[in-house]
Amino acid sequence: MTILSAKNLESFYGPVPALRGVSVDICKGTVTAVIGANGAGKSTLLNTLSGLLEARFGHIEFLGERIEMLSADQVASRGLVLAPEGRQVFPEMSVRDNLRLGAFRKDARAHEERNLARVLAYFPRLEQRFEQRAGMMSGGEQQMLAIARALMAAPDMLMLDEPSLGLSPKYVHEIYQILARINDETGLTVLVAEQNASVALSVAHFAYVLELGRVVLLGPAEEMATKEVLQESFLGST
Ligand code: ATP
Repeated sequence: MTILSAKNLESFYGPVPALRGVSVDICKGTVTAVIGANGAGKSTLLNTLSGLLEARFGHIEFLGERIEMLSADQVASRGLVLAPEGRQVFPEMSVRDNLRLGAFRKDARAHEERNLARVLAYFPRLEQRFEQRAGMMSGGEQQMLAIARALMAAPDMLMLDEPSLGLSPKYVHEIYQILARINDETGLTVLVAEQNASVALSVAHFAYVLELGRVVLLGPAEEMATKEVLQESFLGST
């Protein structure tokens, strides 16, 4: 079953096109990777899907309803939640308070305690640092907090923008293992934008490759994981 379907999205920064007719279909319960080089349009796609950036053309359907005209707040309230690039946790606030802020959806607030226990079970490091200021933690722990905070909203679909950015391989591996476990155990739909194609493909079921604001390749992640295919697309010969 399709949970999100976007057709022919076009987004601009001023007069400059950044998405040039992008279509994606995301199956419920899967992990989908959006990969591509720096500047390919991965963040632009996630920001457009989440309502942070206006889609000038095209449409987006989420859980059977059109959302391309909604604000970012409204999109998140519908259950499509973004953990943005660069983490953006509140450094002066404790881990606990950052997590509580995540529970902004009505349903999530009603089940906040139960949800918190579940989220912390996936991120034991955050439990250890529960009362600490977020800004005191390592980059990897802050990335975990950003993901955990997004999960506190009890999303129907979670979007992650470049969770590996600036992290050591150990943290990157740990974070992707946790994502795979959450998807496996809860069936949460995940869309992850990544420059680190190999790690994203190791966890994803399906993948899209973006280049200069267009989808140049799509297919099952295990097929994409063959080097030749990726090299071709990154070299621009597909
Ligand atoms: P990255 O890994 O660097 O985030 P990306 O694939 O996510 O890369 P985008 O950030 O979506 O790429 O950028 C797509 C294009 O839009 C690039 O050419 C970029 O220079 C341009 N761009 C992105 N943000 C802005 C902005 N705020 N104003 C103007 N142009 C922008």
